[in-house]
Amino acid sequence: MLPELRIGLGHDTHRIASGGPLRLGGIDIDVDFHLEGHSDADVLLHAITDSLLGASNLGDIGELFPDTLAENKGRDSGQMLALAWRKVHATGWQVANIDCVVLAERPKLLPHRAAICQRIAAILELAPERISLKGKTGEKSGDVGTGKIMQAIATCLLWRT
Ligand code: MG
Repeated sequence: MLPELRIGLGHDTHRIASGGPLRLGGIDIDVDFHLEGHSDADVLLHAITDSLLGASNLGDIGELFPDTLAENKGRDSGQMLALAWRKVHATGWQVANIDCVVLAERPKLLPHRAAICQRIAAILELAPERISLKGKTGEKSGDVGTGKIMQAIATCLLWRT
């Protein structure tokens, strides 16, 4: 019998502000800017969280962690992803793979890619080879290209028997 399969999609945007470090993909990157948000504003982990919740049809990150709640202020998005995954996994889902794109003019993602994939894999208790990540610039145009915002897109494939 074939396993039941579900695909999920997540997207997120955060504004860039001056002063580092940058929290991205669960790690701190030593640059002179950061992302603004109610939580720690980890745009990549937010997109991944929404992709998992979307695939399992268990709502979205804003529903699970409302920005009106004081307990979510400055919250570690790694902890939010872990809690969301626990909820998804509890209904029998396993992750086949997660594929992500970060849209940012800087920093260059490649030097940080392995560390980010390992961190995400550790949060989800997966092999790092199941997580892939690409960095794309905005080619100096639009809000990404002029350094106003960063965005992330994530897709995941879940399976269960
Ligand atoms: Mg967000």
